[in-house]
Order: sequence, then C-alpha cells, then structure tokens
Amino acid sequence: MKDEKAERPGHGDAQTRGRGDTETRRHGDTERRSVPVSPRLRVPASQSPSPLILHPSKRLGQNFLKDTRVINRIIEALAPKPDETIIEIGPGRGALTAQLVEKAGTNVAVEFDRNLIPHLAERFFAYKNFKLVQSDALVTDFCSQILPAKKARLVANLPYNISTAILQRLIEQRHCLTQMILMLQREVVERITAPPGSTNRGYLSVLAQVYCETERLFDVAPHAFHPAPKVWSSVIRLDVRPRIAVQIKNDELLREIVSAGFAQRRKTILNNLRHAPEGLQELIKQHGGASIVLCEAKVDLQRRAETLTLEEWRQITRTLE
Ligand code: SAM
Repeated sequence: MKDEKAERPGHGDAQTRGRGDTETRRHGDTERRSVPVSPRLRVPASQSPSPLILHPSKRLGQNFLKDTRVINRIIEALAPKPDETIIEIGPGRGALTAQLVEKAGTNVAVEFDRNLIPHLAERFFAYKNFKLVQSDALVTDFCSQILPAKKARLVANLPYNISTAILQRLIEQRHCLTQMILMLQREVVERITAPPGSTNRGYLSVLAQVYCETERLFDVAPHAFHPAPKVWSSVIRLDVRPRIAVQIKNDELLREIVSAGFAQRRKTILNNLRHAPEGLQELIKQHGGASIVLCEAKVDLQRRAETLTLEEWRQITRTLE
C-alpha cells in the first residue's frame, strides 16, 4: 500500500533514492541561498576531484544516467532550441548538460551538491550560455534565475526522494515555466497521470492535471543509471497550461479541498470533508455542512476522492467560493 503522506503537500516521495525531507529542513540558511558560481570556482580539472572518483551520494539521490540511448531520448523529447532558456535541476556529472549547452540558447543548471560544482564549472567553462547555480531546488526562485528571459522549459532527472516536493515547487513557479520533462520514479509518474477512478489517483494527480497537460513518455530500466536504483523510472512531459484546467476564482481553495478530500483514502469524500482542517471546515459549515455542499456540487456523498473528475472538484470549489 502506498504511503498516503507522500502525495500530500509538503511531503517527499518514498525513500527509494536519496535524502529525505528531514534532511532538507536541516539545511541552514546559508545552504538554502542560491549561489551563482563565480569564475574563481572554475578551478582547473586537475585540481578538482574527478566526478568519477567522487562516490555518488545516496543522500542526494545521485543515480547518474549512463545509458546514452536514454540520454538521447530525453534530449529528443525536449528538443532544445537556440532561442530559448532551458533550466536543468541536478546536472550531476553533466550527462544531459553536455547536450543542453550545445543546443539551447541559455542553460541554467541548478545543482545542490557543492562537490560537483568545480567539475561542472570546469567542464562547461567554455560555454558562455551556461549558468551554474549552487542551490537547493526546493527553495530556488527559478523565475529570477532565468532573467532576462521570462519563460523557460525545464528538464531534470530528479532525486527521487524529494521529487514530488520539487514538482510542487515547480507548479508554484509555473508562471515562468512552459514545459517540464522529468525523469521520476515510475510509480510517481503513474500517480501524476492517473485518471479519475484509478487507485493511483491522489492529490498529486489532481494538482498536476489542473495546472499541466501530462503525458508519460517512456520507461527506463534501473541499469541505465549508476548506481542502479531499486525501482524503474519513467520520463514524463508536463505542459504548463496557459490557463488552469478548471474555471475557478480561488485555486488555493481548490488545493485545500483536494488535499482534505484525499486525507484518508479509504473514507468517502463526505467523511473527509467533514474532518477537513479547521479553516476549511468552518467555510463548509458556513455553507450548510459537507453534505449540502456536495449535494449542491452534484457529487454523490458516498464517492471516494479518487473517483472525482476535475470538473467535480471545480463544482465543489465553486460552491464554497
Ligand atoms: N542529471 C544527472 C544525470 O542524469 O546523470 C544527475 C541526476 S541525479 C538523479 C540527481 C541530481 O540532483 C544530483 O546531481 C544531485 O546532486 C542533485 N540534487 C539533489 N538534491 C538536489 C536539490 N535539492 N536541488 C538541486 N539539485 C539536487
């Protein structure tokens, strides 16, 4: 059975690959700041530890891509253009970066691991279109990192244990993103793309589908990485919708309702809304209580959240707006 918490706002994925959210919270302020890498860090390759002898950090979810066919398929799916900015989260040893700097107009690479920075800075020093930022993607302000560009596309082979938290962060910053091509745990991609009625459907599915059009592109076997993770991966494309999929005034309210609706997966939507967090519960009471709200929204009281369509979530939200 899946960990329900993993889908709720602010929770990371299962600890399959890399460090946990607790670790993220432990970072001090200095580590949270975005640090553009200055030329003084561009030390000669001979003085920087070779990335090949640096042991991949499990804590940082470092499963580096080694299969060139997979690398090429991701780049083909992205098709970077000379007049655009591409953000990469976690360039690692540069498996994707090497092609991005050749093909994209500008490449903004956000890497958390300080040990990888000298190597990346040295390897891509000659590329004037390469901007390296030492930062935690969970707190990075991507919109300001891409300036003067206003919009960018994003590609990443994400550290899996914090991938849903990063995805939520990216959705928050969607105003400057048009598309994301992401490598994620296959199970997470199944959750993101799950249609109404699927047992995989949860908060993350509704959140992603409200803001993006999603398409699962292809699966990747563990042996494509070094070291090999325990699970299969999938590459997904998320096209950020110019306007969200449902016409509502208050999408924060929608997110609260969806989060409350999925709080206990085995319970009905009625039961979950009755036990919603305080503020939302108050609002529901002001509108006559959970059953009245659901009746007005024409949603059967005995339904479970996973069966609701985006339109039905919209109806519930509209009733409370
Ligand atoms: N892109 C490389 C590849 O495909 O071989 C590396 C992918 S590896 C799965 C994940 C990368 O994300 C690592 O380089 C890791 O150091 C970096 N990373 C981990 N946590 C991060 C965070 N919070 N912010 C930015 N990068 C992070």
